[in-house]
Amino acid sequence: MAKVEKLVCVICGREYQQEDTEYTCLSCGREGILDIRYDYEAVKKTVTRDRLRSKSDYSIWRYGDLLPLSRFDLRFYLQVGWTPIYQVERLGRYYGLKSILIKDDGRNPTASFKDRASAVGAVRALEKGSRTIACASTGNAASSLAGLSASVGLESFIFVPQKAPQAKIAQLLIFGATVILVNGTYDQAYDLSMDACEEWGWYSGNAATNPYLIEGKKTVGLEICEQLDWEPPDVAIFSVGDGCTIAGAWKGFKEFYELGLTRKLPRMVGVQAEGASPVYRSFVTGEKLETIIPDTIADSIAVGKPRNYIKALNSIRESRGTMVTVSDEEIINSIKVLGEKAGVFGEPAGVAGLAAIPKLLEEGFMDRGEVICHVVTGNGLKDIQSAMKAKGTLISVEPHIEDVREKLHQRTSQEGD
Ligand SMILES: *Cc1c(COP(=O)(O)O)cnc(C)c1O
Ligand SMILES: [Zn+2]
Repeated sequence: MAKVEKLVCVICGREYQQEDTEYTCLSCGREGILDIRYDYEAVKKTVTRDRLRSKSDYSIWRYGDLLPLSRFDLRFYLQVGWTPIYQVERLGRYYGLKSILIKDDGRNPTASFKDRASAVGAVRALEKGSRTIACASTGNAASSLAGLSASVGLESFIFVPQKAPQAKIAQLLIFGATVILVNGTYDQAYDLSMDACEEWGWYSGNAATNPYLIEGKKTVGLEICEQLDWEPPDVAIFSVGDGCTIAGAWKGFKEFYELGLTRKLPRMVGVQAEGASPVYRSFVTGEKLETIIPDTIADSIAVGKPRNYIKALNSIRESRGTMVTVSDEEIINSIKVLGEKAGVFGEPAGVAGLAAIPKLLEEGFMDRGEVICHVVTGNGLKDIQSAMKAKGTLISVEPHIEDVREKLHQRTSQEGD
């Protein structure tokens, strides 16, 4: 349990106590995203390398002393976090890197990174005495919130755009959520969900504007540091939709650094799809963010009106990082590269960051000897339609060994052409 000292608006800097407001700044409205700050002197006494080493809870709850919750008895049994991190030599060689680390967050209970946020959101809702929670999502936050709510008996209302991949909608139905399919974009679904929360008093589990959920996201940064024995990577790559994932991860890296547990900070790289790159454009031009109509197969980052871009840009600038865009074709290719070189299956938004690596090397942003960490934010089984576009080898045969021999022979001779 950590004592929250204050919540600070990222736009106007106004400070709040927890009782004052649950989501955003009262002066700036829905744009006024809040950042949670703790009493770090108190945290320093309880969060130490030794204390962490002695913990047997391998989930996000091991970082309870850096989370804004008070009722730890409300934690639940599903294992969120402490996903594996792999050093993948063959993938490193493919990109010409000395070292690449793949953290597979598709291994969370509902198969995406979003479980980190939903877990904290669900407990916060229970603490506030809510029985009902709602959010809008391109898909993963939805299935995640629905799954974790189901595990603690919260009712969930989920707003998703009609274009969400089938598997993610199937998850929602199985977890018993009331699914509201919005004939519109994610951005419209988002506004609708916020209006509905106001109208019916549901707890808003929208990570984009709920400061508690982003605290859950930061656990990925904390975890990477601890799993790498307190040696953070040189570069950490995340795909960017609303922007809270990269901002959350950065907060995690920074908190451990400021608590003296690590001695360096990674440079953060934010990756967007070419067809949904408003944050990238604002980063490059230095101008105010302009909303767009998103068009990319990477549904989880198909966001035209990112709600948390200020925090995202702050994290990139503060860390001396950068942003890159990648095409849908490059994303599809990355699904295959990761599968073939690492045996890890990621969804489009979960691998988009890999497509950025050749560009980052070309631009001289990083060199081949640095340690690069890429987080696979979602499992590939969530969107097999996109994966099928990556085209593997398919050989149809009659059920006789002769035919197999024949077809394999044909293939070998074709390859020789
Ligand atoms: C949500 C999501 C992202 C991006 O997170 P934001 O906070 O919206 O920037 C990336 N990858 C996957 C798989 C996601 O579900
Ligand atoms: Zn404000």
